[in-house]
Amino acid sequence: MEGQTASTLTVGVPRETAPGERRVAMTPDTVKRLTASGVVVKVESGAGLASGHSDDAYVAAGATVVPDTDQVYDAQVVIKVQKPNQDEAARLRRGSTLIALLQPMSNIDLMRDLAERDITTFSMDAIPRTTRAQSMDVLSSQATVAGYKAVLMAADTLPRFFPMLTTAAGSIVPAKVLVVGAGVAGLQAIATARRLGAVVEAYDTRPVVKEQVESLGAKFVDIPVDTSDAQTAGGYAKEVSTETLRKQQEVLADRAARSDVVITTAAVPGRPAPRLISRETVERMRPGSVIVDLAAETGGNVELTRAGENVEHNGVTIMGQLNLPSTMPVHASQMYAKNIQNLLDLLIKGGAFAPDYEDEIVKGTVITRNGEIVHEMTRQRLAESSAPAAPNTEGGQSPISAPNREPSGTSTPVLTQDGATQSAEAAGIRNSQS
Ligand code: NAD
Repeated sequence: MEGQTASTLTVGVPRETAPGERRVAMTPDTVKRLTASGVVVKVESGAGLASGHSDDAYVAAGATVVPDTDQVYDAQVVIKVQKPNQDEAARLRRGSTLIALLQPMSNIDLMRDLAERDITTFSMDAIPRTTRAQSMDVLSSQATVAGYKAVLMAADTLPRFFPMLTTAAGSIVPAKVLVVGAGVAGLQAIATARRLGAVVEAYDTRPVVKEQVESLGAKFVDIPVDTSDAQTAGGYAKEVSTETLRKQQEVLADRAARSDVVITTAAVPGRPAPRLISRETVERMRPGSVIVDLAAETGGNVELTRAGENVEHNGVTIMGQLNLPSTMPVHASQMYAKNIQNLLDLLIKGGAFAPDYEDEIVKGTVITRNGEIVHEMTRQRLAESSAPAAPNTEGGQSPISAPNREPSGTSTPVLTQDGATQSAEAAGIRNSQS
């Protein structure tokens, strides 16, 4: 299929079927750009409805809207948000290309099946978090939505005001918000909480983010630990030592106990979420306080978090909701589609699908090709899953190989994470705080 001309390249955009998924992979704006270059785009009827795009809008953008799912999956390049289910995967034609949030390390069987059927796959959650790939970085764009929404959920659940008020009925003190982890989601959470008038403090192991936290009007929590090894040479977070983690837990316990809201977003690429807030810490918080744990999917930063659920403990609500971007499908889709468009600019030349597999971004993102799994970390995962189980190993699987450990497409970076500057820019909040 590679190298096909503009007149023959067909792109399919199916309706998402995963429970609760309301995003769409391409908006009419991004479709328009493809059709203008001669690519035929088939959109499944109703695909954009939940994110505010009618079939007519797609037709106006030059797409063909088809009622039949098979016709969309018959395209040479199929573009989705979520990984295909079994039925959808079976509809993909041999030799075609699939672009979606595939979470390959958690979906080894699917990846093996697609490779065997000679389907080339690109996983949007594997886009390297580098400056050059920033415009394609769906983890950042979707984390921006999650950080914002986490604060709104907390504000909605908290039985108090966020802002300070001076009224005839007395004065109201502002809510105190603690944000743990000041990457993309964390910085957006800080900015949102500040906009609502809360007093915000934040902590991150990478001391380099202190300045960004302060530029958003929040106070940086200094924890006297050795942070010299908190990040890699490329600026990516590393797992901290047990001693450092213990010290962090101790200081954060005091801060959390004084906070009305705690938003946790701490994540280390490819590792389970660091456990930062214990049950005892939750028990020290005032009844009515709210914790939103954005790291729920990778094990949670909070001991009591249950992924996908709200838990109440001693009057404190701990929210572990997953897929927050889908709760704001209009802008989440707009950003996802824009990321896709920027990737397609790299993959489609002159209307023909012609990726340069030596390009660093392409190399990092392609998972299966020519009948094989070519993505290094996924190959390693495959090898681990095929190896005979090690007898009597404490804890069973290694954290990274546990099925729910790999970050989801709407969440933790899979491979790398760009430096602090990128995080702030990706959060879209530079200088936004008054
Ligand atoms: P990110 O990598 O940009 O930020 C994570 C931050 O955590 C980094 O700045 C890192 O330095 C910091 N960190 C690592 N270990 C720490 C520790 N021990 N103490 C304090 N800070 C520590 O990631 P992101 O894109 O902002 O995503 C953050 C989290 O939000 C991830 O867990 C991701 O899976 C999750 N997420 C959830 C949803 C959802 O819908 N629930 C959506 C998007 C993202």
